[in-house]
Amino acid sequence: MGTLLAGGSSITRARIRPPGAVSEISFLAACARCGKCAEICPRGAIKIAHGDDGLGIGTPYIVPQEQYCVLCMKCVEVCSAGALRAVEKPKTRMGVAHIDTDRCIARTDDDCRVCYNNCPYMDKAIKLENRKYPYIDPEFCTGCGKCEHVCIASPVKACTVSPIEE
Ligand code: SF4
Ligand code: SF4
Ligand code: SF4
Repeated sequence: MGTLLAGGSSITRARIRPPGAVSEISFLAACARCGKCAEICPRGAIKIAHGDDGLGIGTPYIVPQEQYCVLCMKCVEVCSAGALRAVEKPKTRMGVAHIDTDRCIARTDDDCRVCYNNCPYMDKAIKLENRKYPYIDPEFCTGCGKCEHVCIASPVKACTVSPIEE
């Protein structure tokens, strides 16, 4: 269930946050902007927002096309502000993947299972329709971003991860 606003609608995070992030409103309040998560991330997956980011300036986020998360949970361990909280890897929900069937090479051109073969939750988060066509099962997708990172569709990826709706 998402964070409900005055009209009953839910909100979507503006960005993909590191694993274990509390709800966006609580996250913006709790994050100390210390940058420790970004420093410890062994993949360099965490970026720090600046510029026109309003209340989010100084907060961490992930851009899967540039680098994905391996769910090592080191960022969660160093976050002493309560912005990132311990979560089991399979229950992590940083975002959710989506495959654009108009762009997916498996459907439009040739055999491709790159996202399927790379997903850490193969046959759960990404399954194959007719043993050929990858599709996402949101129930199991952690939002780690690996599928988007490795998708070979170009110049626009067929597989993309969006921040979760709360
Ligand atoms: S879980 Fe590990 S790989 Fe993922 S963002 Fe945190 S430190 Fe980086
Ligand atoms: S890697 Fe991209 S193009 Fe290949 S099957 Fe997956 S979504 Fe389709
Ligand atoms: S579908 Fe993509 S974002 Fe979801 S768990 Fe698999 S690789 Fe990660």
